[in-house]
Amino acid sequence: MPGKALMIHHNKAMNYHFHDSHPFHPIRLELTLDLLTAAEAMKPAHIMNPRQATEQELLQIHQPTYIDAVKALSATSPNQAWLDRAEQFGLQDEDTPFFPGMHEAASYIAGGTVTAADAVMSGKCAHALHLGGGLHHALSAKAAGFCVYNDVSVAIAYVRQHYNARVLYVDTDVHHGDGVQWSFYSDPEVCTYSIHETGKYLFPGTGFVQERGEHQGYGACINIPLQPYTEDDSWMECFEQSIRRLTEHFKPDLIISQHGCDAHALDPLSHMHCSMKIYNEMPAILHSLAHTYCSGRWVAVGGGGYDIWRVVPRAWSLLWLEMTDHPLKPLLRQQPQMKLPPAWISKWQGQSSVDLPHEWLDDLTHWEGIPRRAEITAKNRESLAVALQDFP
Ligand SMILES: [Zn+2]
Ligand SMILES: [Zn+2]
Repeated sequence: MPGKALMIHHNKAMNYHFHDSHPFHPIRLELTLDLLTAAEAMKPAHIMNPRQATEQELLQIHQPTYIDAVKALSATSPNQAWLDRAEQFGLQDEDTPFFPGMHEAASYIAGGTVTAADAVMSGKCAHALHLGGGLHHALSAKAAGFCVYNDVSVAIAYVRQHYNARVLYVDTDVHHGDGVQWSFYSDPEVCTYSIHETGKYLFPGTGFVQERGEHQGYGACINIPLQPYTEDDSWMECFEQSIRRLTEHFKPDLIISQHGCDAHALDPLSHMHCSMKIYNEMPAILHSLAHTYCSGRWVAVGGGGYDIWRVVPRAWSLLWLEMTDHPLKPLLRQQPQMKLPPAWISKWQGQSSVDLPHEWLDDLTHWEGIPRRAEITAKNRESLAVALQDFP
């Protein structure tokens, strides 16, 4: 039923786990699902178990030898010939080290995003959320930035093949969505949009305004690189103006959005200074665009976010509240100081090394403003103007 939203989740996604001190930790999923349960915003009936992506589906995006390497390096003790080649495939660095069971876990994540896209495109639901997904840095023959298989690219290729739909991909992670961009760089039917901290200072070092697509796909790629220390108002201004213009211009059949929440000021891996405000307001814009242009068809996935206790569970829960039209969402507008469920805080506080937040949104009265705010805002407006200059 249109209006209905599904949460796509498989316990096998919890096995996508490099090691315990790695920032991309599956406890992020558990903390979020638990917060939603405590808030009485998610019931077992909302959850759909995805299937594993097939080899055929992975091959639409990834090279056969890369898939062989991922499989071989998933063994408990991989053979030496593959160990020698691990580096070539990006699987032997600090960011994305190979681990036992990697192929199966990553295939379930790719399958989760395919399942989400299928559920929405077939009309089973209007919106689907797959928080295990969003591995936007994985390349055709190389793992990168914590990403092994590019679940988003695999799902977009699936949608193109089975439904021939025009897809708008919206990436709000603080890192440029490079893997998805390169997968569809010359495809005019897939528009990739990414708003992120400029690649001048942050991994993966791409995502400049001049990257606009190539050949037939020229114009179906938009990048909004923002200055370090960008705050809420400038982020929202750049996002809202660009995404409204782009969606109206491109007229997609489906929106797939990536919700890395690492542009938050507390995130240890970036230099942005946004608060929970953008993670409350941005999904509402995507939601309304999906209903205006796509008959509601909207798939959302997770992504980065490395303040796993204070930022990720709240940001991702706010996204689900938006997708389900939950009554807490409008209430938050009237009562910005609304409390998180005490049961969630008491359950997890003992495991966290930091004080858990007590409210859904951040209380900005204690935040110091960024001294260069005017200069940063002006530079972001310049990038926005260049990115939008070809739109009518
Ligand atoms: Zn809706
Ligand atoms: Zn990120």
